[in-house]
Amino acid sequence: MTGADGSHAAGAWVVAGARLLGGNPADLVLRDGLIAEVTAPGAASVAGARVLDATGLVALPGLVDLHTHLREPGREDAETVRTGTAAAALGAFTAVHAMANTDPVADTAGVVEQVWRLGRESGHCDVQPVGAVTLGLEGRQLAELGAMATSAAGVRMFSDDGRCVSDAVLMRRALEYVKAFDGVIAQHAQEPRLTEDAQMNEGVLAGILGLRGWPAVAEEAIIARDVLLAEHVGSRLHICHVSTAGSVELIRWAKGKGVDVTAEVTPHHLLLTDELAATYDPTYKVNPPLRTKTDVEALRGALADGTIDAVATDHAPHPVEDKDCEWSAAAFGMVGLETAVGVVAEAMVATGLLDWAGVADRMSLRPARIGRLHGHGRPLEPGEPANLTLVNPDAAWTVTAVALASKSRNTPFAGHTLPASVVATFLRGTPTVLAGGLV
Ligand SMILES: [Zn+2]
Repeated sequence: MTGADGSHAAGAWVVAGARLLGGNPADLVLRDGLIAEVTAPGAASVAGARVLDATGLVALPGLVDLHTHLREPGREDAETVRTGTAAAALGAFTAVHAMANTDPVADTAGVVEQVWRLGRESGHCDVQPVGAVTLGLEGRQLAELGAMATSAAGVRMFSDDGRCVSDAVLMRRALEYVKAFDGVIAQHAQEPRLTEDAQMNEGVLAGILGLRGWPAVAEEAIIARDVLLAEHVGSRLHICHVSTAGSVELIRWAKGKGVDVTAEVTPHHLLLTDELAATYDPTYKVNPPLRTKTDVEALRGALADGTIDAVATDHAPHPVEDKDCEWSAAAFGMVGLETAVGVVAEAMVATGLLDWAGVADRMSLRPARIGRLHGHGRPLEPGEPANLTLVNPDAAWTVTAVALASKSRNTPFAGHTLPASVVATFLRGTPTVLAGGLV
């Protein structure tokens, strides 16, 4: 692996005949970390350049994940920055936002700089740390938001993800505080009292299975409160992993009023429903829970019309012992980096809801803008950083848990065939993935 900081002189590449955003084919010349030229197919010739025949492949700007749990420091048995970023590169990502619920929690400049440095040293993609909103994620006292923002990591997104900032006063203060440096609070919207011991979506099925229900209103109540708070203080709010039709309505309403709110949806919430809980297989246990078919349809529609801005994986690796147990004792979460493109292709592209340009917008351009991540989510044009990925839209593949680069195996898609696969990823002109494998 070459360094992720792009400081070395990478050899030039010609990516020949790729369909830009799924449109017309072109040749891309990558040199010195940049897209040097975009020419008609067959027109690019650069002495000494390596050539990648991209006939039939779709070229997208490198994907940006707003929501990745890399687990390092503290849970290196589940994932490390190295394994997590390898999974990301294989999944077409050139940048990920690393969530703050590590051990120690990323609530100081020291810890966010540690994660940022690990990303630079060992990463297969850029790692942008997310800072905690409250000290220790305990919801009692604001963390050092300003110190994290001005640290080398340049944190812009703050989240207590895994927990909700449920105290309205703290949430208001956090929203006010981050305005000074154009930050954003990413809320894990979950009213804690309404979800005590909750195990799956609240509904008829939860009753039949004897599992404590997780009401949609627990998510929606926090979103309603927070969009009003964001409007009141004139700050930027992001809603993590939206999972219900009611949440979509609220976000649509808030955006219509001009509230500066953005939202993400996970690939699994675009494809899977709560009926999978009937298997009692804890692989399907996730926070927020899988919802109903009606919710899935509303989420797809909202992603298609832009009400939901972005797809974010909520990649949540867990070691086997934390998942291979009875449902009520199992950890919440699923890995998702390596399957994200395939799942979005199935849920959104194959259904005609999004074209590949739309996928680029929801998985690269908008997430980079929300995270204020410079150098990512840029158009495939001369002079832009050569962060891009090549997807074969017609190469179906069947997911095998043991073949994942992630250190954990908790994928809900094992045995499932996805319609599209990632062929190559370039980070500042240097390949991190070629022929579907790590470089
Ligand atoms: Zn979360």
